[in-house]
Amino acid sequence: MKIKTLVNLLSVRCRWEFLRKVARWFRTDSVGAASKMNDFIQTVHSVKSIAGMIDIPAVLDVQHVLLGDQAILHERISGKKNFGLTISYFRERVKNKGIIEIGLSRYNFFRIRQMYRFCFELLNGDAERFKVFKEPFKFFPIANLSKELSTTVEELNKVHPAIKIGLYDKFLPEILETAEMNARLYPFRENDLARLLGIIFEEAFIGPQVIVLDPFHRCNIKCAHCFVHNPLIHHQAGFLDRKMNLRKFKEIIDDAAELKTDCVILQGDGEPLLHPDFLKMIEYVRIKGIKPLFFTNGSLLTRMIAERIVELEVREIYCSLPAGTARTYSSVCLGSSPSDLFQKTVENMKTLMELKKSSGKQFPRLIMTHVIHSMNFHELVQMAETDVSIGADASRFYMIRIDDNNGHLRLDEEQLDAMKKNLPQAEEIFRKAGIDFISNIKFQFENYDKKTGAWSKDVFLKEGCTIGWCFCLIPALGDLSMCCHLRTMGYLQNSRLKDIWQSDYYRQKRIEAKFLSENTHVSCLNGVKLYDEHCDHCDNHQNLLNTTKELKEFGLYKFFKS
Ligand code: SF4
Ligand code: SF4
Repeated sequence: MKIKTLVNLLSVRCRWEFLRKVARWFRTDSVGAASKMNDFIQTVHSVKSIAGMIDIPAVLDVQHVLLGDQAILHERISGKKNFGLTISYFRERVKNKGIIEIGLSRYNFFRIRQMYRFCFELLNGDAERFKVFKEPFKFFPIANLSKELSTTVEELNKVHPAIKIGLYDKFLPEILETAEMNARLYPFRENDLARLLGIIFEEAFIGPQVIVLDPFHRCNIKCAHCFVHNPLIHHQAGFLDRKMNLRKFKEIIDDAAELKTDCVILQGDGEPLLHPDFLKMIEYVRIKGIKPLFFTNGSLLTRMIAERIVELEVREIYCSLPAGTARTYSSVCLGSSPSDLFQKTVENMKTLMELKKSSGKQFPRLIMTHVIHSMNFHELVQMAETDVSIGADASRFYMIRIDDNNGHLRLDEEQLDAMKKNLPQAEEIFRKAGIDFISNIKFQFENYDKKTGAWSKDVFLKEGCTIGWCFCLIPALGDLSMCCHLRTMGYLQNSRLKDIWQSDYYRQKRIEAKFLSENTHVSCLNGVKLYDEHCDHCDNHQNLLNTTKELKEFGLYKFFKS
């Protein structure tokens, strides 16, 4: 019997059980397994809708239906500037004792109580008397979304006979089914799923997966390719002394924990190890149940710090090493002192890996990061050999982002060809040593514009940018930025992370970035446009590509912009 026929014969409940068993059978704790299962989910979907749990009739009058309790939401869904008109129409209907309708869509179903209350108040009802308006809509557990919606609609339907709730978005049941199915199959990935659904529903139900935080702007070296410490850059007075204080840091981490953020990366416009409270910061992140990660140039990572880092089970360390030899290192890392800093960094990383090995711990994972440009492109193979000698867990090459201060580091055609020629040899070295090769450079090569040095020109303009649901950056001063180029959404000096994250302003910018090509003119609080030249060499490209991949794996991509 074909598997499709078998699934069709099972009752809804049995099907869930069956799918769950199949999920276990595939050991669904990896993205690869998710992908396999997704083929299966697609098969089931193509046979028959399996949930059938929402029993809400379609709206009667698609022209005159309330789609949001705020103009912005209503008009987003209707696609027309008609909020005011709809309200006037409703007032007339109420006078003539007619009914008014609320339409459910993927963008508003979780605001059903607020929308109902809005209509109830239009009818001069005293909303305060009703408990049903005060309860929150329970987005979690995702596996119960349809049930939560049905129950809420049922309760609300009892409040006033003149207010009706109907289905406006015909895809809503299918989206909810897909969400629930994934939630049941991958309960351990519920937070990831909530973020992906946030993109579809255009709401942040959960905090960013990653928060990148700059504790301090100072660095002990001056790399030629650095966007902050390149000697050609001159900063405003005080910029380099900006340091996040521990009290503010803890407040941010408290909110991050509440928002269910997965990991916090300390990196910087500087070297995080220079912050006097660096270890206390890592400890606090750990205490709050968030995974700590950090970037470093490795030169200050002494044995004592390494021991504590291993104890604290820091999840990942990204060590930047822009050379494969001491000679090139000294010319790239200008002002590096003492002159044996290359060797010192390599020794520090070796010690870290030895300590990890002897502790029997799985973490930290050490990822060697090599920014590549015209001064070091010829050392890919030596870089790979160095990583092997360290015993790193993973390595990545990253082509430099070109801007006004580093044009002289642009790779010319010959240098690019040399890199492409050497890359397979470096990859082979990694493969033999069992080091993961993070292949983002291949995306950069594929999309590289030799003239401008851009590698993502138009990619996210066409696709849209989903970064607003997954990531945020907090520089030492405490602005909150949506992406790794300062696009300010709020100021933590006088607000809390959780409030900014859930603000209407942030919500609006997330949605505008999702439709980036239509919103290139939109500015953020600091005056920086939502779309600018940085989008052409997006440092978040891996993040964005992964999100797209996951939307596809979870069977949600078809609802992304439809
Ligand atoms: S180590 Fe990092 S922060 Fe320091 S100068 Fe180099 S690139 Fe900049
Ligand atoms: S640089 Fe542009 S495309 Fe990249 S994350 Fe930022 S806004 Fe999105």
